[in-house]
Order: sequence, then structure tokens, then C-alpha cells
Amino acid sequence: MKAILFDLDDTLVDHQHCYRTSIAALQTQYPALQHKSFADIEKLYVQWLDVLHAQVLAGTLSLPEARRERFRQIFLACDAPLPDDQLDEVAQFQAEAYRTAQRPVDGVIPLLDYLRAAHLQIGVLTNHLLAEQVAKLKQCDLEAYVDVMISSEEAGVPKPDPTMFHMALNRLNCEPQDTVMVGDSWQSDVIGATALGIRALWLNRYEHTCPDPTLATEFESYVPLEAMLERLGV
Ligand SMILES: [Mg+2]
Repeated sequence: MKAILFDLDDTLVDHQHCYRTSIAALQTQYPALQHKSFADIEKLYVQWLDVLHAQVLAGTLSLPEARRERFRQIFLACDAPLPDDQLDEVAQFQAEAYRTAQRPVDGVIPLLDYLRAAHLQIGVLTNHLLAEQVAKLKQCDLEAYVDVMISSEEAGVPKPDPTMFHMALNRLNCEPQDTVMVGDSWQSDVIGATALGIRALWLNRYEHTCPDPTLATEFESYVPLEAMLERLGV
């Protein structure tokens, strides 16, 4: 084993904790959002994030436009439409609440410390804009652990397309059998990696049903570290 590949959002950094914290802050700050339950706002948030994020990755929408549109739709669903300038204010408020809440997934730091000490390289493959993800790594004090980070912005196409995996293998000077991919997205991380012959570990923190146990090793936590090292084979 020469290198470990990780996804970033909800694999190394706790994206769900960040957006949940930011939604709670939004509902307190903007009472119109209390017309719906927290769970309903969360559902809308995730739905619109998915739809609009795909357009950001495809280059058809800028990040500020996507953020404005996300909150336009959420306020509309609460029967409280907002003008554009107020949508920008909401987006800024949410982005700040999200940033403040950023933290690594539980158990990530001890694992990365171990991998570093064992002289294994660490690669990150993430479907997002590079600057956004570099800022996340810095905020969570993860930057120093990462040897190579490939963003879909740089690759021009998101996972599960093989491009980002090929780029990572090249830069880390690895063959597929020299590495393993750890990620929370079945479609992007597990399907993407295994298509190239890279073994996959699927992080399933929220009790989803495993689509195919023969394709990946499923786990729910990095804790305890010893069990994680055994799964990784390091
Ligand atoms: Mg992810």
C-alpha cells in the first residue's frame, strides 16, 4: 500500500453537521423559514444544493448565483419570496454559519496522524471548486496531511468519471492495487474507484442500505482506529 485516497465532504469534513448548524441558524435569523419544520427546510436545502451544485460543476452557474437560487427556492417554498439583494445577505449569513461549524469527521485526525507516521501518501478527490475545498481543509486543520488534492473543477468532470482517479494515481505514482478509496458516496466514490480496480471503503454514517456488499467494505465510523487500520490493510 502506497497511498490512501479520500473523498472530502462527509468523508473527511463533516458537511452534514455544517449545513444542519447553518439551517438552524437561518431559521432563528429569518422567522419566515419557521413556516416549515427543520426537516422540511433541510430536505429543500439538500435537494436544491444537489441540483444547483451539478450546474456549478458543469460551469453553467456561478457559485454566488447557485447560492442565491438555492435560497430563492427555499424562501418561495415558505411562501416568503425575497428580492435578490436580500438573498445575497441570506447566502452570506448561511455561508458564515457553515464555515464556523466546520470540523473533521470524528476519528479523522488520529487516522491521518497514523497514515502520515506510516509514510503513506494521502490524496483527496472532491467534486467541487478547488478554492472552496482548500479553504475547508485549512479551516479543519487538515491541509498539512494532504499530498495531492484533485477537484472536479481542475479535472473538468466529476467522479465517478475515471479522470480524477487517473490524475490521482499519476500524481501519487501509484497503480490501482497500491491504493484504496475511502468515501461516503456510493455512486461517486465506490463506483468510480472500483471501475478502475481500486478497492473501496464505503463510509455509511447514516444507516443507508448498502447497494452491493461485494463491491465495497462498509463501515460507519473511523473509531476505533485499530478496526479502521485493519479495513484499510495498513
Ligand atoms: Mg462525500
